[in-house]
Amino acid sequence: MPSSPDVVIIGSGIGGGTLANRLVQHGLNVTILERGGYLPQEPENWDVHAVFVDQKYVPQETWLDKEGTAFHPGNYYYVGGSSKLYGGTMLRLRERDFEELEHAGGVSPAWPITYRHLAPYYDLAEKLYLVHGQVGVDPTEPPDVPPYPYRALDHEPVIERVACALQDQGLKPFPLPLAVQRHEGGACVRCKTCDGFPCKVHAKTDAEIAAVRPALATGRLTLKIHAKATRLILTNDGRRVNAVEYESEAGLARITAPVVVVSASAVNSAALLLRSACDKAPRGVANSSGLVGRNYMAHNNTALMSIGWAINDTKFQKTICINDFYFGDRGFKYPMGNIQGLGKLQTGMLTAKQKYLPNFVGDLMAQRSVDWWIMSEDLPDPENRVILQGDTIRLHYTENNMAGHKRLTNRAASLMKKIGFRVNIQKHMGGLSVSHQCGTVCFGSDPSKAVLNEFCRSFDHCNLFVVDASFFPSSAAVNPALTIAAQAIRVADHMARVDFGVTGISSAR
Ligand SMILES: Cc1cc2nc3c(=O)[nH]c(=O)nc-3n(C[C@H](O)[C@H](O)[C@H](O)COP(=O)(O)OP(=O)(O)OC[C@H]3O[C@@H](n4cnc5c(N)ncnc54)[C@H](O)[C@@H]3O)c2cc1C
Ligand code: SF4
Repeated sequence: MPSSPDVVIIGSGIGGGTLANRLVQHGLNVTILERGGYLPQEPENWDVHAVFVDQKYVPQETWLDKEGTAFHPGNYYYVGGSSKLYGGTMLRLRERDFEELEHAGGVSPAWPITYRHLAPYYDLAEKLYLVHGQVGVDPTEPPDVPPYPYRALDHEPVIERVACALQDQGLKPFPLPLAVQRHEGGACVRCKTCDGFPCKVHAKTDAEIAAVRPALATGRLTLKIHAKATRLILTNDGRRVNAVEYESEAGLARITAPVVVVSASAVNSAALLLRSACDKAPRGVANSSGLVGRNYMAHNNTALMSIGWAINDTKFQKTICINDFYFGDRGFKYPMGNIQGLGKLQTGMLTAKQKYLPNFVGDLMAQRSVDWWIMSEDLPDPENRVILQGDTIRLHYTENNMAGHKRLTNRAASLMKKIGFRVNIQKHMGGLSVSHQCGTVCFGSDPSKAVLNEFCRSFDHCNLFVVDASFFPSSAAVNPALTIAAQAIRVADHMARVDFGVTGISSAR
């Protein structure tokens, strides 16, 4: 491995890890700087108390909200990033999500690329992340999706009964596409602690397992753990990034490479660019448009607990998805969003968030509930933004576009009531749920309205890319990871061809 790599990537999550995986396949030498270490495989991985009450894997870091009140963000700093604890849902954006779309609360802007541009890279991302699913059953599925690498997970009996009852109500529930290794020879034991937990047996195909480890095995990836990038340093003319400054156990150091990629997640990538302000870029690196940090989005999210009389003994509940109301409903012509099974709620999880709920009541509820994640699009608003207060991140966020979301949540609750789940408890996640953070360094075709071009290259500095959830111009209403991974593969192919002259790669669309 040469002392100066071809590409240095900051962050090893879905964006950075996937990008590194593809670049080494093209023969390039890559170094990743990752602020965290490896998440240990240990009994606590699957312990509700350790994960939800003690918050063992949440960083000690605090951010400030718009009022200046400190909170612990649910952001994860490990090799593999937040995907170490993700739910493994791997949905494509809908074809119309790439177009301008009118919502009840405003307009969701068009992307600079269409679904057709990303489709071949979605195919590659589904292969890399070993996605299990079924084509032809999602009523809003984009066109010409090829069969998934592995067949969908079956529902357990209670969820199968719910799916049938919802079909009787005229809905088209379908199996949720998932990145868990439940195929023959895969290590998944279908446990009760997947969504929101690390996988103790490494059977969840997160960015570490699917992308970083295989890239390390090629010998062309160097991974520096506990190496936190603190600043990007520009060349004298300000047109390129010359070096990345980072802190590690050995102290402060610098690394240089012909191409630098920031993949630190939407909030941290914006913060790093802002923190790198200098005389050549007084508003922050890549920020001549003034847009870095703005248009932060994270979805409108509500957990719905539908409680019936019978015990729900389902272990792995996240197999079901409903897109019937994605683009609207009878009497409501605006998009509403996606409904998907939530990892099975368990007693400790409920009482961790509701301190006045006695354990035995929480137990009774959790034993009888079918749990859902209701997710709708929030719209880009320049005032929703990441700013720095000293060196601390301040997340200024005000909810928007809630009409469709409320309608969707109430629709789901009334459907569940109709099929026998008499009590439906809604828990709105609010603006500080950062798990689906995106949009802070958005891509586009006009440098006055976007920070990056359609290949995530900075308009201001030609050797700088930002490849993570930051580039989303809209949040759509599906989970972000598959789209981040698909774009990372697309960017890697483009970078290998254009910046390094690698031949034989079919032209990135
Ligand atoms: C509990 C939970 C469940 C989720 N479930 C799903 C799901 O089912 N499906 C889905 O699509 N999405 C899900 N998500 C969201 C998904 O995990 C994220 O969208 C995705 O991981 C974002 O990828 P990223 O590359 O933008 O950032 P990340 O994956 O977070 O990676 C960023 C990396 O950068 C590192 N880093 C940050 N700052 C620095 C720095 N200064 N120097 C060096 N390294 C740095 C971090 O340690 C991290 O490794 C979930 C998230 C959470 C938290
Ligand atoms: S359900 Fe499978 S992939 Fe998920 S944590 Fe359990 S064993 Fe791992």
